[in-house]
This record gives sequence, structure tokens and C-alpha cells, in this order.
Amino acid sequence: MISTPQEQIINPRFVRLDASTICQLKCPSCPTATGATGKKLGVGYLKFEDFKKFIRHNPQVAHIELSNWGEVFLNKDLKKILAYAYRHNVCLYIANGTNLNYLPDDVAEALVKYKLRRMMCSIDGASQETYVQYRIKGNFDQVVENIKKINRWKAKYKSPYPQLKWQLVAFGHNEHEIYKAKEMAHSLGMSFFLKLSWADLYGLPDFSPVKNRELVGKETGLGVASRKDYLSKYGNDYVEHTCCWDLWIAPQINYDGRMLGCPINYWGDYGNVLEGGLSKIVNGEKMRYARGMLTGKREAKEGIPCTTCTVYQRIKKEQTWVTDQDVRNTYHSGRRYIMFENKILGEEGTKRLADFISGGRRIFWQARTAIKQRRFDLRRLTEIFSPEDPRALPNQGYPLSIPLSSEEEKWKPYFLFHGLTKGVEDLSCHVSVLVPGHSPHPPHAHKEEEILMMLSGEADLLLPLYNGPEGQGRIRLKPGEFVFYPSGYLHTLQTASESPANYLMFRWHARNSEPDTHGQLAFGKHKIYDSLSTNEGKQGFHTATLFEGPTKWLSRLQCHSSVLSPGASYAAHTDPYDVAIIVLEGEVETLKRRFGPHSVIFHPAGKRHGFSNPGKIAAKYVVFEFQN
Ligand code: SF4
Repeated sequence: MISTPQEQIINPRFVRLDASTICQLKCPSCPTATGATGKKLGVGYLKFEDFKKFIRHNPQVAHIELSNWGEVFLNKDLKKILAYAYRHNVCLYIANGTNLNYLPDDVAEALVKYKLRRMMCSIDGASQETYVQYRIKGNFDQVVENIKKINRWKAKYKSPYPQLKWQLVAFGHNEHEIYKAKEMAHSLGMSFFLKLSWADLYGLPDFSPVKNRELVGKETGLGVASRKDYLSKYGNDYVEHTCCWDLWIAPQINYDGRMLGCPINYWGDYGNVLEGGLSKIVNGEKMRYARGMLTGKREAKEGIPCTTCTVYQRIKKEQTWVTDQDVRNTYHSGRRYIMFENKILGEEGTKRLADFISGGRRIFWQARTAIKQRRFDLRRLTEIFSPEDPRALPNQGYPLSIPLSSEEEKWKPYFLFHGLTKGVEDLSCHVSVLVPGHSPHPPHAHKEEEILMMLSGEADLLLPLYNGPEGQGRIRLKPGEFVFYPSGYLHTLQTASESPANYLMFRWHARNSEPDTHGQLAFGKHKIYDSLSTNEGKQGFHTATLFEGPTKWLSRLQCHSSVLSPGASYAAHTDPYDVAIIVLEGEVETLKRRFGPHSVIFHPAGKRHGFSNPGKIAAKYVVFEFQN
């Protein structure tokens, strides 16, 4: 259920603490270069003493992003900050961006030695002539030299940190160098990100608009070449609307301790965390009020920075308020975990240890309860010492009544289950209601694979990368149809029917992935009723395969439709893989219950279950097998 998140107590483990508001470049679209931020935030850098105080007084903070308005490497205390954070098991990032024109060798070594996790290098061109048109006063060759400098230290320490990314903002004057920049990034061991220009966010003139819109649309993977086009195509701000989530999950703080809430706001603050304390400020009346505004529960008010923000105006106009869904699932590890990662076991080893400890903890608490209750029978002891994880999914079934109620939300998800199985690390299932014309989110891509099945109503899937038999970028999904989204596939949906769309979603990933190969299942749309028609009217039990094949996370994903005639059944058994079943017509009986149309049934690998048709008409259902 979507709750109202504005009154939650916030105790963030991740914060953004700007290391510097000073910058040596004069990029035309940047409020730092125009002097706008300096007037409000001051022009300065995070002092080592303030950083120490912040780390000492806020022991829950374990992750800090250092970059926002200025150039991080102009902070004269940066080396000491890196060393102190490492000593106190706090993980640092420069993931928002650095121009990297200036990097002393000892600081380059400190980045590697003290395990800065990630760094985004803002390089808007692949030659000095192009680069300097936007990064005014910048030196392209020096930036490349500084990247090589970091790589030399990485080789010396045999360390993967910091992971480097090349970000190129797409302009008319640099679009011809996109491929060259990509190649250079690859040869420097960096990943690559093409970003849309953002000048209009601060009301600045649109600098060097993109000319080859097709190329930029294709290379960003979005099918659009500007933020404006993005808004009209997807109905939401390009990146900025997620900045509001930082008021819950990663609050932005100015170098002098003033709480700004998000990385976009520079015109107002919520108090000083170095004076008032982080917890007191983030849970204070002013910030709670701002969160209330962003969730649509409170009116705009003078003195709250969001009131004058263009992002808030947009959210208000489109009624795309922040929901509980947006700001949940934001777990960040604590300092003890980082100590193990940085100094003892490395990333993978620490993850394995954490899994082991959570298993041990479960055994301890269950054994303690058994002793208290004086229950020592064999079944109980087997339960306690069985290696099954408490998150392991059991056999389960959910009768659904379609259409679902939207409870006056534009998008209302109902979670059915979420956990792990023998072969799948994280598997969840939800059904959602989406009102006409609405999208749950802009197109996004994630590591998980998904199956989306339409139960009632119709929706357009917005797929910036799709160019197939049904057209380009958009396909219609009707009841009885479903799609498979491979890992990393860009997607969203928008209700196209006059009634709300009701749809079902399975989402999963496993611990070990397969490298991408041509044999893996690609995005595909499937019609269940076409396959069911092959077994229409037959007696007994019959199946027809819709598709099967390996995926990034599964050795095989198999889907088939089944018809079970009245009175027919198959005996109780266990499968070596997870099975999800959606009833389409008739009734089935399993787990000592009857399930009608739209019911969702899940049998994890190794769990015994039988199946029969207790009704008077043929039971028709679709089955997904998650094999690993
Ligand atoms: S509305 Fe603007 S100022 Fe407020 S949190 Fe969102 S982006 Fe920041």
C-alpha cells in the first residue's frame, strides 16, 4: 500500500556534502559560472575540521558524495578528507562530476589508496577545439593526462577504485565527436554516459542546441534530444524529479554545513547541520514541511526552497507527487560493513560474510525461542538448523479480483510477494492499477529482468530502443498479452484505454549472471490465447510452449500455456525450479484451495504441490518456469 512518507523519521546513511563551490571554468549553462550560486552559498570549500566534526557527530553516516556545485579538486583539504574518511570507514564518491583539469599527483594517489568508489568526469568533447567551447578555460589534454595518472596509481595498487565514468553533455557543437569520445573512454578503462543539456532548468539560454536529433536520441537510448522533448514524450522531468527524493534518501549539504535538501536548490536552506545536528535538521519542521509539499499533502509556502523551484511547479501541475514507492528500497551499508569491504575481505567476501551472519543470527534467535518454549522435538530442531534463509519464498496463492481499486492514486501497486528461492536471489511479484494517460515512471533500465502481463485495460509500452514489427518506440499491450524485458532494457508504460490498466509484474535477478550472449532471450511480446487455441477442447492435460531460452540471470526461462479439463489432475510432486502460474479461465485447486481467473500461484523449487481442476469447465492458465 502506498503510504504517506512525509512524516517518516529520516536517519540517512548517505549524504551529499559539497567539497567545493569554487570552479576555475566558465561553463555557460552553469549557475556556478554565472555567479548565481556564489551569491547564495558562498564561494569556498569544505574544511577538514568541519568534515571531522561531521563524521564524529554523525556515526550513522557511512557514504558521502562530495561533488555538486564546484570543482572538488580545488578543495585544499581533500587529501586529508580522503584519508580521514578511510580511517573511519566512510565511503566517498565524486559521482556527480568533476572537470578534472587540476589533479596533484599525491591527491591522485589518495583517491586510489583510500578507495574513493566512483568518479564521474565531465568531458564534453573528444578534442581541445570542441571541449573548450563549453568547458571554457578547460584543457582537454590535461584532463586525459589526469585520467591516465589515476590509472597508473590504480595499476600500482592493483585496485579497481575509483571506477571512472566519462560524461558527455550532448550539444550541437560536439555531437560529431560522440563516437570518438566513446572509444577514448573505452581505451581509458572508463564507462560512458551521454547526457541531455540542462541549461533551461535554471532559465539560462539554451547553449548550442543539438542539430542531429536522431543521433542523440539513439545514443542516449531515449529517442529524444532535449529535456523539453523528454517531458512531452514521457510526461516527466528528465532526471530532476528524482533529485527531490534526496530529501529522504541522500540530503545535500553545502560545504559550510547548510542543509540544502537536494542538489538543485541553492537559493534557500533548512538550517546548519554543523550547528543543529544532522538528525535534528532533516527531521525539523521546515524539512518535514518540504517533504509534505513534495508528496502533495501540504500547500506551497514562502520560505520553503521548493516553492520557487521549477521542478516543484512541474510536479504540482502534473500531480506526479513523490510516493512511498519512490523512496523505499534505499538501503545503504553502515561503517562496519565498509570496514570489512575496504580493509579485510573486499566487496565479494564481505557480501558472503554478511549472508552467513544473517543465517547464523536466524539460527540463534530460533534456538533461543525453542529453549524458552521448551520445544525440542526433531521437527523443530530440523527447522532451526535447516539452511533455509528466512527470506525464502514458500508455496503461496493469491486470488485477485479484477479490476483492482486505484484508491484515488494515479498508480497503485499491490505487492504479492518478495523474497528468494534456491535459484533466484531476489524475486518479486506485484499487480498494479494505472489510471488512463498515466505512467508510473519515466523510461528506466535496471539489472533485473521482468515479465509484464496485462490483466485488464490496455497500455502502450514506451520502449525507446524498440524498432520492430509493431513500429518504433511504442507498442500496445492488451489483456492476455505479456512482454519479457531483458536486464538493462529501457522501458515504461502508459495507460491507453479509457479504463485503468491492471497489470501483473514478475521481477527478478540471481547472484551469478551470464555474460551477454546472442543466445539469450531478447525483448519479446507474447499472446497467450494464440497458444491456448492449439489445445482447445482436448481432454486431460495439455501444454503449448510460448518461448524458452537462457537469460542474463537464468539458465532457462520457460513459458507455456496449459489446459486442464474438468476433473483432470496431476499428482503431488516437486519441481527443481520455481514455477509461477496465472489462471486465465476456469478454476484450479492447489495448496488445499480453489483459485479462479487472475489468481497468481507460486511454487518455489523443491516445494511439494499438486494440481487439479475441480470445476465444470476447462481450466486455462499460463506457467513461467524460472530455472537455474
Ligand atoms: S522541488 Fe526543487 S528544490 Fe525542492 S527538492 Fe525538488 S528539485 Fe529540490
